[in-house]
Amino acid sequence: MSQTGSWQDFRAIDVIRKKRDGGELSRGEIEGLINAYTRGDVPDYQVSAWLMAVVLRGMTRPETAALTDAMLRSGEVLDLSALSARKVDKHSTGGVGDKTSLVLAPLVAAAGVAVPMISGRGLGHTGGTLDKLEAIPGFNVNLQVTEFRRVLQTCGCAMIGQTAEIAPADRKLYALRDVTGTVESPYLICASIMSKKLAEGIDALVLDVKTGSGAFMKNERDAAFLAELMVETGERMGKQVIALITDMDQPLGKMIGNSLEVVECVEILRGGGPDDLRELCLDLAAWMLYLAGAARTVEEGKEKSAQLISSGKALDKFRQMIEMQGGDARAADESSIAKMKVLPCAKSSVDVVTGRSGYVSSMQCEQIGTACVILGGGRERKEDSVDPSVGIVLYKKVGDRVLANEPLATIYYNAEARAERARQLIGESYDIADAAPQTIRPLVHRIIGKAGEKN
Ligand code: URA
Repeated sequence: MSQTGSWQDFRAIDVIRKKRDGGELSRGEIEGLINAYTRGDVPDYQVSAWLMAVVLRGMTRPETAALTDAMLRSGEVLDLSALSARKVDKHSTGGVGDKTSLVLAPLVAAAGVAVPMISGRGLGHTGGTLDKLEAIPGFNVNLQVTEFRRVLQTCGCAMIGQTAEIAPADRKLYALRDVTGTVESPYLICASIMSKKLAEGIDALVLDVKTGSGAFMKNERDAAFLAELMVETGERMGKQVIALITDMDQPLGKMIGNSLEVVECVEILRGGGPDDLRELCLDLAAWMLYLAGAARTVEEGKEKSAQLISSGKALDKFRQMIEMQGGDARAADESSIAKMKVLPCAKSSVDVVTGRSGYVSSMQCEQIGTACVILGGGRERKEDSVDPSVGIVLYKKVGDRVLANEPLATIYYNAEARAERARQLIGESYDIADAAPQTIRPLVHRIIGKAGEKN
């Protein structure tokens, strides 16, 4: 089959029907569909149908490899060999309040490691790094490749999205999956993440694979399957890859929503912030430094990362990156809601209160993410723009004592009707019991990948 995808030799409908009926697609069929879609020769509605067939029918290992390769080769693969520093990145499979990338890129760059980060927008009920960065006025996530290289070379880190040059197939597929209920497939997640990361010209990669009620992989078995799939894909391409299976049974940190999440990252970079977020940032940074050879052990990487925060070097890097990418660097001073001046904050706020006393025994984390999307913090249609100023601040998390009429959370909103729906959802997502839960799930559940064996 030729690569042109012309009607004589390639019909999208045949590929859709074959996958719908449980068949195994050939490399040529997958390449044909991905290339034709990237060029604009196959419409969104046909690709949506194919994506849903993949979600329902799954993919074999050869199909997943062919999809990842086709998406990777839809654009340029960066050659960063001219940069002497080791190049390491991190990517998360997506969660609620999951904002570690904004901390990790400057933190790891402050240790002299290069971090060329290509991220995504919000996906389903989860937030996206690009949407968070764009909450900083002027921040440009659409740098051309030459500019991306320049920022990386000077600053040590640069954060952009998929472009027309790098991973263009993921750029289109990602936006379509977001609004068609086709995110939750390990095969599609693997191809999406690994095609972007392999295009970055990195030496090593740390994957944060989320599990729990706010993750796409709700149970640990599915998360481990996805982690193994991605680690295997990266190792096949000669990269050092490690996957941490981490908890997403409740939101990470206390703030959810694009602008608010920047505030919480600034808090962490200034040495404060919630314990769970700080711990996970230090764990992930430690692995990045270890794989980069900037720390002899993961423990040493953790100590080094903590020092880079307390010395202010990580925050300085964050400020430099914002400036170099056109953003207002005063955002790096806004470490609380009271200090928000350049970061947008919604016009109104309302508390979510509970009628009963007890302990938070669990949280329906996906519902909390959905509440943020409903407020306008995410997209319901492809063409929607996000409202960076809305969000949620949580005061209570799993294990916390709650008194009747005490606020569980505050909602920051711009539209009354949306706030009311979000308030209901958040209220319903808290389970309150008489006794404190016997166990609290650990932050890091498991580590997968050969790169971790030596440590
Ligand atoms: N992150 C990505 O980049 N892609 C996915 O499919 C899920 C999370």
